Amino acid sequence: MASLYYSSTRGAGERVTASQAVLKGLADDGGLFVPETIPALPDSLENLAKLSYQELAKKIMGCFLADYTEEELSYCIEGAYDEKFDTPSIAPLHQVGSEYFLELFHGKTIAFKDMALSVLPYLMTVAAKKNSLQQKIIILTATSGDTGKAAMAGFADVPGTGIIVFYPKDGVSPVQEKQMVTQTGDNTCVIAIRGNFDDAQRAVKKMFSDKKLAEELLSAGYVFSSANSINIGRLVPQVVYYIYAYLQLMNKGAVRAGEQINVVVPTGNFGNILAAYYAKKMGLPVKKLICASNRNKVLTDFFATGVYDRRREFYLTSSPSMDILVSSNLERLIYEIAGCDAAATKAFMDELSEKGLYTLTEEMKARLADFCAGFASEEETAAAIKKIYDADGYVIDTHTAVGAAVLEKYRAETGDETIAVTASTASPFKFARSVLHAIDPACDGHTDEEQFADLERVSGVARPAAIRELETAKVRHTGVTDEAGMEAAVKAYLGI
Ligand SMILES: *Cc1c(COP(=O)(O)O)cnc(C)c1O
Repeated sequence: MASLYYSSTRGAGERVTASQAVLKGLADDGGLFVPETIPALPDSLENLAKLSYQELAKKIMGCFLADYTEEELSYCIEGAYDEKFDTPSIAPLHQVGSEYFLELFHGKTIAFKDMALSVLPYLMTVAAKKNSLQQKIIILTATSGDTGKAAMAGFADVPGTGIIVFYPKDGVSPVQEKQMVTQTGDNTCVIAIRGNFDDAQRAVKKMFSDKKLAEELLSAGYVFSSANSINIGRLVPQVVYYIYAYLQLMNKGAVRAGEQINVVVPTGNFGNILAAYYAKKMGLPVKKLICASNRNKVLTDFFATGVYDRRREFYLTSSPSMDILVSSNLERLIYEIAGCDAAATKAFMDELSEKGLYTLTEEMKARLADFCAGFASEEETAAAIKKIYDADGYVIDTHTAVGAAVLEKYRAETGDETIAVTASTASPFKFARSVLHAIDPACDGHTDEEQFADLERVSGVARPAAIRELETAKVRHTGVTDEAGMEAAVKAYLGI
């Protein structure tokens, strides 16, 4: 693939290289960059199965990031997937009975966001060099809890970059909040907002497409970019681990090359599952992509009815990283099922922001057959944690449990017993209180420290370094604002 270009889902004609798409994050017209074609798997499954995670990542990411040289990609991938991960396999597959959990939480901040955000700073600084960018890159990010920390862990003290993170003050777990407000690095800034993730994401997107603000930044020597999954540099590294999961199943003898599997993804912003969809389009033998939501089940309703309707009550749940009503990456799927019709995609997105809903055509709805969607209530989520713990002693986090609960319901409703891989998106230590409550409500009322000890006892797993570090970490960030004050906070931090 000598040249693969990216264009915007809202199609003002902008056509950029992969490295330019990584640098910009969002297209000028407010759309998302999509590859003009999805590349095919670069080799046979049998040959790919012999590769290490890093070797596979080079091959797969190379298919998408066509203007990066092999040396550049090696530099990025070797730098990202090293001892920062606490297991050499990077993304191990854990078997519980006949179920498989793809553990994506072995990086620095113990959530799956590390899989992409450990490599994004490398992809971005290489892209800056390739494109002779003179300005300092300011990463502006809205987080539902995990992206912000993982992005800061990746970008802290990276020369030529700065990072500003907004998180919903009352919408993250205690560990998530502590991880963020104690972030070190001279180029990091964390601000809590009075509002939810959707409020933060909307304001960030607005700042990205504000031409006047862009000019002010430019004259002060800055450009914005994004570490959210709207950045193609987030999505591409996520394609790798779905393929890796399949190859691990082959190597274990659990599937024959070519045999189909189902993939279950606990979903919020629709980034992780979109990466699985890209893996399927590359030729990975996947039957159904099962989109699992918590009580904020806008996506479940969307797949059932073809109507995306965000006008509904917003709930805070035990899986806060999925408390989202406007799933940004769905726009990339809409573009795809609209037959790559950018004008139609733009019309749907305009309807969503003006009226709060849109309705797919019958033809588009028929193209959603790769997907299946379901949701789990708080009770079902807790029951899934307990059931898997009782069966095997294995402890999953609340987000992963949403996936496990939805898979169980899917199997009961469809009778489809195809072997399934569930993306395990966070370490249970990150959501210790909810996880322990599910296993043994007698643990309620324990202090944070007691909870970590409880969890070590019940799971037989020592607390990860990310938790140990919090014990002595100092609070460094105390800013709070409301949605209306976000732009002023950014300007104040940058001194413009
Ligand atoms: C971000 C996140 C999700 C949701 O992933 P999306 O790509 O936004 O759909 C699920 N679980 C955890 C733990 C997360 O951090």
